[in-house]
Order: sequence, then structure tokens, then C-alpha cells
Amino acid sequence: MTMTHQPTDIIGTVPAQLFIDGLWSDGESTFPVYDPATGDELAQVADANAADALRAQSAAQSAQAKWSHTSPHDRAQILSRAAQLVRDDRERLATIMTLEMGKPLAEARGEVEYAAKFFQWFAEEAVRIHGNHALSPQSRNHILTVREPVGPTLLITPWNFPLAMGARKVGPAIAAGCTMVFKPAAQTPLSSVCLAQILDEAGLPSGVLNLVTTSKAGEVVKPLLEGGAIRKISFTGSTRTGSLLLEQAAKTIVRSSMELGGNAPFIVFDDADLETAVDAAMAAKMRNMGEACTAANRIFVHETVREEFTSRLVARFAELTVGNGLDEGVDVGSLIDEAGRDKVQHLVDDAVAKGASVLSGGQPLYSPGTFYQPTILDNVPDDAEILHTEVFGPVAPIIGFTDETDVVAAANDTEWGLVGYVITRDSERINRLMNDLEVGMVGVNTGIVSDVAAPFGGIKQSGLGREGGHLGIEEFLNHKYIAIPAPGMA
Ligand code: NAP
Repeated sequence: MTMTHQPTDIIGTVPAQLFIDGLWSDGESTFPVYDPATGDELAQVADANAADALRAQSAAQSAQAKWSHTSPHDRAQILSRAAQLVRDDRERLATIMTLEMGKPLAEARGEVEYAAKFFQWFAEEAVRIHGNHALSPQSRNHILTVREPVGPTLLITPWNFPLAMGARKVGPAIAAGCTMVFKPAAQTPLSSVCLAQILDEAGLPSGVLNLVTTSKAGEVVKPLLEGGAIRKISFTGSTRTGSLLLEQAAKTIVRSSMELGGNAPFIVFDDADLETAVDAAMAAKMRNMGEACTAANRIFVHETVREEFTSRLVARFAELTVGNGLDEGVDVGSLIDEAGRDKVQHLVDDAVAKGASVLSGGQPLYSPGTFYQPTILDNVPDDAEILHTEVFGPVAPIIGFTDETDVVAAANDTEWGLVGYVITRDSERINRLMNDLEVGMVGVNTGIVSDVAAPFGGIKQSGLGREGGHLGIEEFLNHKYIAIPAPGMA
């Protein structure tokens, strides 16, 4: 593996401070951010405490009234400028993301464009916030419905897509006229600092976006959720944390959107085009090293095509280059940390101990850094832990099946319901599975469902609400109904 020298000069362009009420400031202490590919410390970042978070909340509260009265056109202009600035800054943003998170530079560049598209999409949505009118059936009243921003919001993002998850929340909040306190993941705060920099440059007024980087998430978030000033939380992360935050949000009835974990089934039927199936499996499994909530977690393959499918998949896995995401030609970067890599190893060992066979990989790679070999496990038994938890790594567990009803039951046998993938050429089967899979999203003959124009989200313990598409802005708007007597009918 050839290691590129770390471009520390790029890290020097990131303020690594809190951004509250339009001003950059230090916290009372700092915390380190590491490059998972080398183990090197990249930066010390301001470590907000509860008092800083409350300062951020007050700034958001003070800015709310004026911000909610800005014209949709002005909000759209800021978002359009931000989209352009993100695109102009592509190489810096992609490099920072790769450094703090480990993904290959090519994927990081793709994520920069994805983030820009969210800003562009919500710039276009900002000017399409519609109300409604009806006459009551008795014709006594006009029923007028208008949309209003929900108020100050709390946005919390995970480490796996540090830029896009931020843009997917900040974009609609700005478009709707909400102010915000934005808390990114402690392992990847630098990408979010860059987003704050860019929005400031795009002309976002002071106090609208307040960024609190912190290593003390619990201490910082609880008083915000329980204080009464925050009107909405939009969270992306694990189901465990989401459930805890919902408990806290219940105290002051904070409106909640939750994008949580997944356990995606990927089903290859006997009539599938196997080239399509393998392409889709590569995308659904290997994007972001498998560290995605949408990652194919359980690959069900019909027995009649299983041998052919697995041998083609093994060949494709053998072509993958694992290494430092900054290096040209790398397909699979480092996992986020040692705990993430050790969890992957534990899941592989457990499956093998219970009878699975390793068709490729199965071991960590290189040191320092937290790399793991692209791995295929065949004949994974039902009781293997890997089928019942998010893998979050480059491991493809394969399970054979023969009957459609049985495989749908197995696919639905999970508390999660984010996404399911179906590979088949049978249109009637597609119709059946569209209905029968208990998920928020279905990919048919594709391994990628993410799209700024589509409503992203899950059912069951995968979450509440939708991000992106037209529904994305709805999450940040209230309905207000006004009754006005119709002339002559009062
Ligand atoms: P996580 O541990 O739940 O953390 C997510 C965010 O919550 C981070 O900012 C984290 O801060 C914060 N957090 C943790 N404990 C908290 C607490 N007690 N109070 C307030 N905030 C708290 O999840 P993760 O490991 O970063 O991310 C991976 C998970 O995200 C996976 O389950 C994945 O499926 C899910 N995900 C879902 C989607 C989706 O759209 N459905 C998209 C991407 C990821 P710290 O970093 O400081 O701990």
C-alpha cells in the first residue's frame, strides 16, 4: 500500500472553532480528530460544553423571528450561492472528508456533489412553500391553511456521510425559514465546520446556523431538547441514540425526524440478469466501505443462480484495491476506527464458528489504520449475529433460498425497515415485492436509492419522517389553519 503524504495545509484552512451568532470562538477546551487511515492526529477542535450549546440556542432563538420573515427568494439565493461554493470548493472538501473519515477520494468527491445538490434542491423548494384554501361544507367559513417554519431546530449528524447528511438537514431548515443548532459527529466535525464557513460566505445571516462541535454529545444535547426553546430535532444516527433522543424530546413535545439504522435485504431471484445483480450488489455493499445505513446487509440468492452469482462477486471483490483513500485507484478506504473494525472481525468470526464459509477476505489489513479485507461469506446460518445487526463494513453475507414467500418473510424478519433491494426481470414479482417488503425504500435492479429528489427514510425502527424530495422541507414546516367567515354567511 502506498501512502500519500497528509495534506496538513488543507486542515489549516478549517477554523476548528465553534460558530455561534455569526462569530467563530474557542471552547473552554479542545478534542482531537484523527485520520483513521494513519492514526495521525489531524486537528484539535473546539469542544463545546452545555453553556456553549445554550449560547448557540439563544442565538438561534433570537434570530428566528427575523429569519422566518425573510422572503423565500432571499433564502433560495443563499442556498444557490452555497451550492455553487460547495462545488467550487470540491477538492478541499473531498480531501478533508477523506482525511477525517477514510472514504476513497473519488467517493468523497461524489459526496461533495451530492451535498451541493441538496442545497440546490432546497433553493428550488424554498419558493414553492404552498398553503391551501377550501370553503367549509356549510359555506360558513373560508378554511385557509398557511405554512410556517417550525422554529429553532436541532440538527445532529453521523460520521459516515459527514457533508451530505449535514446538507440534507441544513438545506431544508434554511429553505423553510428555521434557525438551527447543528451538532456534527465528534469523529468528523471538520466537514461540518466547512459547511458553516460556506454558508457564512453565502450570506446566511448571523444566528441562523450555530455550529457546536463537541466530544460531550449527551451533556450538550439533553438541555437543548428538554429546555423548551428547540421546536424540532432532525437526527441521523443509530437506532439506540435515536430512541434516547426521542425520550428526551418527549419532555417538551419536540417534533422529531429520525433517520436511523438499517438491515437491508438484497434479494437475487433466479430470473435475475446476473451482471445487473453483481453491479447492484457491489454498489449496495461496497459504497463507503459498507459503512452506510443503506448497505446490503443480507444477500439472499436463489439456489439455482447462487454458484454463478457468488463466483462473479468473488471475481469483482478480487479487483478491489484497499488503501488510504487519498491514494489514486483506491476503492476501499479505512473503516472509521478500531472499534468498527473489531466489530466487523467479531461478526465474521461468529458467522464462521456457526458454519459460514469464507469465499474471500476475512481479515484486517495493514497497520496503522483500520482497514478490512473485502469479504464474502457463504452459507451464513440464520443464527449468525451478522444477519441481525448492521455490519458497517465490507462484508457480504450470502444466504441461499428457493421460495419467494420464504425469502420475503426472512427479509422482513427484522426490527429495521429502511431499504430493500430486489433483482429480478419478472414485473409481476416486482409488483408483489414493492408491496410486501416492510421498508421505506425499494431498489429494483439497482443498488443505489439515494437521490436528492426522493423521500429518503425508513419504517419500523429505521426512523420517522423523510429527508430530501418534496417531503424534506415539510419536516421543517407547521400547518396553520385560519377560519375567515365567508361574506354574508357569518
Ligand atoms: P450514533 O452513535 O448514534 O451517533 C450519531 C450522532 O448522535 C453523532 O453526532 C453522535 O455524537 C450523537 N450522539 C451520540 N450519543 C448521543 C447522545 N447521548 N445525545 C445526543 N447525541 C448523541 O451513530 P453513528 O455511529 O455516528 O452513525 C452510524 C449510525 O447512523 C448507523 O446506525 C447508521 O445506520 C445510521 N445512519 C442512518 C442514516 C439514515 O439516513 N437512516 C444515514 C447515515 C447513518 P458523537 O459523535 O459525539 O458520539
